[in-house]
Amino acid sequence: MAVVRLRSPAGALINLSLRAGALALIEDNHTAFTFDEAGRLFSAFLDGRTYRRSLSNDVLEKSPGSRPGLAHRARRMLAREEVERLENRAYAFAANVAGWLAAPSSSDPDYARVRDALQRANTYSFARLEAERAIYQTIYGRVPIMPPDQYLALALQATEGCSFNACTFCGFYRDRRFHVKSPDEFRRHIAQVKAFLGRGISLRRSIFLGDANALLLAQPALHDVFDALHQAFAFGPQEAVSDTDSSQARPPMKGVYSFIDAFSTRRKTPAEFAELAARGLRRVYVGLETGDPELLKFLGKPNTPDDVSTLVSRLKQAGLSVGVIVLVGAGGRAFAGQHVANTIARVQDMPLDGGDVVYLSELVDYPGADYTQAATQTGIEPLSVPETKAQMRAFLQALRRGVNKPLVSYYDVREFVY
Ligand code: SF4
Repeated sequence: MAVVRLRSPAGALINLSLRAGALALIEDNHTAFTFDEAGRLFSAFLDGRTYRRSLSNDVLEKSPGSRPGLAHRARRMLAREEVERLENRAYAFAANVAGWLAAPSSSDPDYARVRDALQRANTYSFARLEAERAIYQTIYGRVPIMPPDQYLALALQATEGCSFNACTFCGFYRDRRFHVKSPDEFRRHIAQVKAFLGRGISLRRSIFLGDANALLLAQPALHDVFDALHQAFAFGPQEAVSDTDSSQARPPMKGVYSFIDAFSTRRKTPAEFAELAARGLRRVYVGLETGDPELLKFLGKPNTPDDVSTLVSRLKQAGLSVGVIVLVGAGGRAFAGQHVANTIARVQDMPLDGGDVVYLSELVDYPGADYTQAATQTGIEPLSVPETKAQMRAFLQALRRGVNKPLVSYYDVREFVY
């Protein structure tokens, strides 16, 4: 970590820090901009609001809601002119800081590292970030979702879309056909991503293998995928990361993470999952959605809760960590009782431990999803906001952390940007 402090001409305290692949410029603890090591704006905090920019140059604004807590937070995507204003402000600030920093000369290595990172930031502008949007779209199309603990991962698409793509509540991949990349195509994809991100890749410390269910590939194809990853990136424990010299090769990736479904991977054995664990697969995320078989059928999932339990047991036998996702509010009032009771019983029966996580994800009326229409046609009334919060609390209280129990955490798909 490198830190430099200075005073602006107006007397404000300016903190510049370079750590974990990000340059942060902080003014008097009320305004902050962070940039990746290439110089792209990554996030901002100003006027009491938090902003998170995606590689497609969209910006999500998060502001405090009427009550404390994630569930009450207000979120919206900025309009293009607002994105331009925010980025102009960020880069004007970076240019000012560079001017203030230019005066002192110092042999302090922190000073040189921070100055270099700031110079790279000052090669960027709204126009350049807009130009990168087109490159991003060519490489990725879109990265619609990743799990909350992987929001900073490097997304690599061994497959595109979802092989099923028909669960009523899910609209993440409706705009694309399922596609399996050939080994050559995947290697080209990795090379394009690395070239696109440049030094900015140092912000990413793990790999998220996308899209929805890349682990459905046959075992030899998955071995090709992991070979390609190991040829392109160094893997190692996070503790081995040297943070003292930004000129070094980028720090090692701490592992590979991926969604998995419980229907197309039915034939994978614990031994096959163990092979992937030995090659760097660390945690997989499975949508249980509900432990209630009737509700799961209504949601259009082509598997049963038993299939999820079997899958989780095999993953745990293979030494993998698991993220289990529960869909809070699914089935509205009609299913609320059986959804809560059967989901709690199902999760409590899984062989989860302290290395696992249970995500409580609120049902969202996602564009392209059919859930709302299906529920309306069936006469299912949605939960009110207080009822949804009460259901969330019921899950939290029953599943909350204990000794060697999984972490239970909130997962708001509206907060994801890549
Ligand atoms: S929930 Fe999963 S399996 Fe169902 S459509 Fe969405 S990505 Fe595909």
